[in-house]
Amino acid sequence: MVRQDILDLLSEHAGDYVSGEKISQQLNVTRAAIWKQIKVLKGEGFEIEGLSKNGYRLLKMPFSLDEWVLKQALSSTSLGCTICLEDELASTNDRAKELARQGGGHGQIILAKHQSAGQGRLQRQWESPRGGLWMSVILRPNLSLADASKITLAASVAIVDALRELFQLRIGIKWPNDLIFDGQKLAGILGEVVGEWNTVQTLILGMGINVNFKRERLSAPLNATTLYDILGYEVDLNILAATILKHLENRLMSLERRAFEELRLSWSERAVGLGEEVRILRGEQVVQGVFKGISIDGALLLDTERGEQSFSAGEVQLRSKIGKYF
Ligand code: ADP
Repeated sequence: MVRQDILDLLSEHAGDYVSGEKISQQLNVTRAAIWKQIKVLKGEGFEIEGLSKNGYRLLKMPFSLDEWVLKQALSSTSLGCTICLEDELASTNDRAKELARQGGGHGQIILAKHQSAGQGRLQRQWESPRGGLWMSVILRPNLSLADASKITLAASVAIVDALRELFQLRIGIKWPNDLIFDGQKLAGILGEVVGEWNTVQTLILGMGINVNFKRERLSAPLNATTLYDILGYEVDLNILAATILKHLENRLMSLERRAFEELRLSWSERAVGLGEEVRILRGEQVVQGVFKGISIDGALLLDTERGEQSFSAGEVQLRSKIGKYF
């Protein structure tokens, strides 16, 4: 592919000019074809300087998702090994499920620049405008069905750590796996088991992060925020995705070594609401108590008038006592 070859050549000489003649010789394409391709790349957000006497120089790569840029940024060994990036998908999790059923391997990632029918937990809708990071990963880890919920906990921790590494932000985890900043939701995670875990052992891990768009782009009633509103500038979605995958891969490896208690502690250190009076909503039913912590499987442990009760993430919602989101 000429596009990829040109980018490879320019990035090999990062900061330096590569003459049109050299590109033309190495790739065996006409100067006109190169010029045309450079124009396309510029339109996609690559900053390429072209000087007739020196040639072309790659100055900046786009912040929007791009397969080539993402590949450059990836440092994980298994996660991101295969990339499926679409402009629009109904839901990256649904596409990932299809691909998994067709044999998609461990680590394959599916991204969309926007989703038309993104999903939250309990069949809820997830708004996914352009500029967000909407990504699903196919995982076939060496773990059992009972450990599936631990993977979504690991994903929350991985996203928190990536945002801390890149932007020195302190994001909190609201049980089970919403990421919040100043009481507002920045990201959500949706883990779904495909088929029978015991036979195929596949988990689809969907991550949705509000990144390069203003809060106003989401519907008004949502208790939400975006990275753009927090930081005041746009960030490189490729680097963000790659950094999350790096942290996630490390967390998955320690889960495969059965370091479950380490994950429980990491999760708890980043959680919001621990030790506080909270409410648990199960349909119409409300249970009140003190949020004591989570079990090794990620179930919420609540100290109630009737003793300790535990709740699994699949069925309930957590709310703070005074009706705030958190
Ligand atoms: P909960 O936080 O109530 O457990 P989920 O994790 O299932 O919810 O996420 C779905 C809910 O998140 C939706 O019902 C909606 O209220 C909210 N939501 C939808 N899209 C976004 C978004 N882009 N950012 C923040 N919150 C959203």
